[in-house]
Amino acid sequence: MGKIILTGDRPTGRLHVGHYVGSLKRRVELQNSGEFDDIYIMIADAQALTDNADNPEKIRQNIIEVALDYLSCGLDPEKSTLFIQSQIPELTELTFYYMNLVTVSRLQRNPTVKSEIQMRNFEASIPVGFFTYPISQASDITAFKATTVPVGEDQLPMLEQTKEIVRKFNSVYGKTLVEPEILLPDNEACLRLPGIDGKAKMSKSLGNCIYLAEDEKEVQKKVMSMYTDPNHIRVQDPGQVEGNTVFTYLDAFCKDEHFAEYLPEYANLDELKEHYTRGGLGDVKVKRFLNAVLQEELAPIRARRKEYEKDIAYVYDILKAGSEKAQKTAAKTLEEVKAAMKINYFEDEALIQQHIKKYQ
Ligand code: ATP
Ligand code: MG
Repeated sequence: MGKIILTGDRPTGRLHVGHYVGSLKRRVELQNSGEFDDIYIMIADAQALTDNADNPEKIRQNIIEVALDYLSCGLDPEKSTLFIQSQIPELTELTFYYMNLVTVSRLQRNPTVKSEIQMRNFEASIPVGFFTYPISQASDITAFKATTVPVGEDQLPMLEQTKEIVRKFNSVYGKTLVEPEILLPDNEACLRLPGIDGKAKMSKSLGNCIYLAEDEKEVQKKVMSMYTDPNHIRVQDPGQVEGNTVFTYLDAFCKDEHFAEYLPEYANLDELKEHYTRGGLGDVKVKRFLNAVLQEELAPIRARRKEYEKDIAYVYDILKAGSEKAQKTAAKTLEEVKAAMKINYFEDEALIQQHIKKYQ
């Protein structure tokens, strides 16, 4: 059995630095490690429509944005298959069969969906498609027989749900599907990067993001406006680093080399934190440092994006070719699923013979 990756993003907006540290950066490393037989990266437009049904234009406009973000981060269409979810009808068909293996109460227990329902004010009337998207995610993962799913922490409940569906399917219909493993970021700050407003998660839907495609000035403006410790008013006041977004971002992005280059009075982040906690270190200085670190990471991404932006037709060709390849893989799995469920009547010679005999 090969090592296969499936992961993706909803085209609800451009990708941000939370996606980058939570999943994108790791994907590129995994892609370039050469350890994987197949890598599928999905733009989850069908899933995005489950809570944007009245705004298909938003989804349509953002497919190219996400694709450009992928390519600019270093996803390489020669090594990774980039595709669009809605172009693979087999995924929908799998979802329909998996729905029989999941209960309503099980879906209601999903903590990520619970908090998303709250965030979107869906409590009074949840679209059925949105409520069941963890099942559709199980189809996405299993259709490609993915062994490894590199995603952020909010995806843990989806992976649990997928594993349950795989176990149930295999025990009822015989071993067909592959149980995937989640691959979370090693760095704790990257599990769920907070927004620049200090809210629990940087999210396209909350508008608290630093986008990968943003220019230098915009990034700087956002960094300088970031939420810090509200009680750290004067420079000499002792400050708190826990829950201080600027320090969480430094945890996620900075390396000791950055100090040598941009802030040589400190050897590493621990020293900087210690000074801030003790008092005597102002927010502006820390923010300027964070800005330098972020700009260094984002500059090559921005430059690559500019190149791809010159050839949008080529980017669409990449997505089309990727979708065609992904469709073939999913069709093969669907065939196996239908055979396991014995709903492949016309290929089932024994069934036909049985019925011929019955009515002879
Ligand atoms: P939406 O608000 O539309 O749900 P989103 O910003 O949550 O958008 P998704 O497309 O749902 O983005 O998530 C794509 C991937 O990025 C997932 O693997 C998710 O875990 C990861 N991710 C999203 N936001 C963050 C974050 N703030 N920190 C770390 N990882 C994140
Ligand atoms: Mg999300």
